[in-house]
Amino acid sequence: MIRTRYAPSPTGFMHIGNLRSALYEYLIAKHEGGTFVLRIEDTDQDRYVEGAADAIFETLRLTGLDFDEGPGKEGSYGPYIQSQRKANYLPQAEKLVAGGHAYYCFCDKDRLDSLADAHGIKKYDRYCAGLSKEEIAGRIQGGEAYVIRQLVPEGKTSFRDEVYGDITMDNKELEDQILIKSDGMPTYNFANVIDDHDMAITHVARGSEYLTSTPKYKLLYEALGWDVPLFVHLPLLVNENGQKLGKRNGATSIPQLLEMGFLPQAIVNYAALLGWSPTNNQEIFTLAQLEEIFEAKNISKSPSTFDMVKLTWVNAEHIKRLAPEVFLGLALPHLKDAVKSPAADYARLAAITQSRVSFAHEAGELVNFIDALPEYDIELYTHKKMKTNPEVAKQGLEVALATLETLSDWTHDTIAAAVSAAAEANGLSKGQLLWPIRTALSGKPTTPCGATEICELLGKEESLKRIKAGIEKL
Ligand code: GLU
Repeated sequence: MIRTRYAPSPTGFMHIGNLRSALYEYLIAKHEGGTFVLRIEDTDQDRYVEGAADAIFETLRLTGLDFDEGPGKEGSYGPYIQSQRKANYLPQAEKLVAGGHAYYCFCDKDRLDSLADAHGIKKYDRYCAGLSKEEIAGRIQGGEAYVIRQLVPEGKTSFRDEVYGDITMDNKELEDQILIKSDGMPTYNFANVIDDHDMAITHVARGSEYLTSTPKYKLLYEALGWDVPLFVHLPLLVNENGQKLGKRNGATSIPQLLEMGFLPQAIVNYAALLGWSPTNNQEIFTLAQLEEIFEAKNISKSPSTFDMVKLTWVNAEHIKRLAPEVFLGLALPHLKDAVKSPAADYARLAAITQSRVSFAHEAGELVNFIDALPEYDIELYTHKKMKTNPEVAKQGLEVALATLETLSDWTHDTIAAAVSAAAEANGLSKGQLLWPIRTALSGKPTTPCGATEICELLGKEESLKRIKAGIEKL
């Protein structure tokens, strides 16, 4: 039974990198019908941000990454908020001390600072590892502050990573890291091991920045006599300048992306592609489709670049796939803003704009010519392929006006038939009528639908008025 967990620290809003971690954990579990756990890692009280945990719950809810166990949900391994699990850690650390895998350390800040090398890097020198039992007991009894450190043995440590393969590190590279801080709280480096074991986590997926710490975690699992989970380290995520994407260099938060008009399903789809690709070239997926095909073995090692242009394309693809009534719901306020005419058929306007926008809010701009013909330059009448220019266009509009004035049945089809016949009778091509009509009616170089459809949308009276105005202008 696969069990994965997303283990955010409540230090701010989730950004795309955080969402990717959550998503990959979710998918690894769901692909196998496993369990996805949410654990809030709040043992670092200095970095805690009020409200951040609630914002994380909300983002997971909006993006559909529903967790099976976690804060507010049933489960047999709770509580799922680390600060509420405090009692679990110290006994395990004491067990490690008793087994010779950890030791008490009383070194104060001044002493630790003095260990800095020329580059300012401090590696603990094991000063306290040699203290006698009596001295330790005495100092603890005397109320002296202490931490508990891992005692890294000699030798080499190897582990297998699903993405990066077999990794071996010389233990000399590993510091005797702090497991329990002087305030009694565990460090992340300790708590992650205890909790992943306690919660029976089988696959630990996290950023590749944790690769170099993993040997230390493996030593802890072994010292405690526990099975080691499978590690899945995710490739680095960078911005366009090649810098690691993160809060510090302005990664856009998920709530901000939603506010900008990105659909949750598009954000999820795009996050999936940041370091993973299927064996075919498909790029657009629903979450359910991802659950079906996602496999950790297809995660890539190479850094992935966050690209707003690609995300925007993915959004447009998801907009196209929305049910018409769902798109109408999203576009309606923007369509109403742009087209105020009481006769406006908003469902129709939504239908003609849906496949042409990257965001629902762009729908309004595409049809705002309906209420008011914008100022336009007569050069708009020039179109090479349609073989029109202002002179031809004037002729085309005059022919169109004459035939449309007499048309009683005003529908897209009857207009198209009348325009075709008139073009032929006057030795013009269809385009030499349709392009000028479209320009005269919209005043825009591109429109979300063709000339005859615009005629229908505007109605006969308004269409003829605009064609006349076009002729005037020319
Ligand atoms: N709390 C850690 C973080 O937010 C979790 C890393 C992990 O998944 O173990 O980076």
